[in-house]
Amino acid sequence: MMVFIKSHLIAWDQGESQKRGGKMQRGPGVPCPQEEEIVQRAVAGEPFSDDLTHHIARCERCQEKVAVYQRLNASLVQKLYRFDCPSSETLSYYCAGLLEKTRADETEGHLRVCPLCAEEVEQTHTFLQAEQFKDS
Ligand SMILES: [Zn+2]
Ligand SMILES: [Zn+2]
Repeated sequence: MMVFIKSHLIAWDQGESQKRGGKMQRGPGVPCPQEEEIVQRAVAGEPFSDDLTHHIARCERCQEKVAVYQRLNASLVQKLYRFDCPSSETLSYYCAGLLEKTRADETEGHLRVCPLCAEEVEQTHTFLQAEQFKDS
């Protein structure tokens, strides 16, 4: 039954976009992908298939969906990783070697499990090195 409804809708969709002179700019033969497909790819950060990329590039409705889910995903990832993260201040102190031993060890342990902080530290290191070069 679902299958019947779906193919019926797709047929209707294509008919409609033809009627409107392709105003929706749907790729020929490629209907809007299912919501789940967009969610899955956007959330996992996986690339879309060529057909879909082609379709999404020309379909505002799908572009919007992708953008929404990617934004959602970004904030989810941040929450997942960030809830017990040290502050940026702590991270900079860590980079500069200004933390007391216990805190430094804690931070180091955290860096091993948190790609976001590890990246921030990496960036701070690069920044600090560049600064040192400037001074000397
Ligand atoms: Zn679409
Ligand atoms: Zn972290």
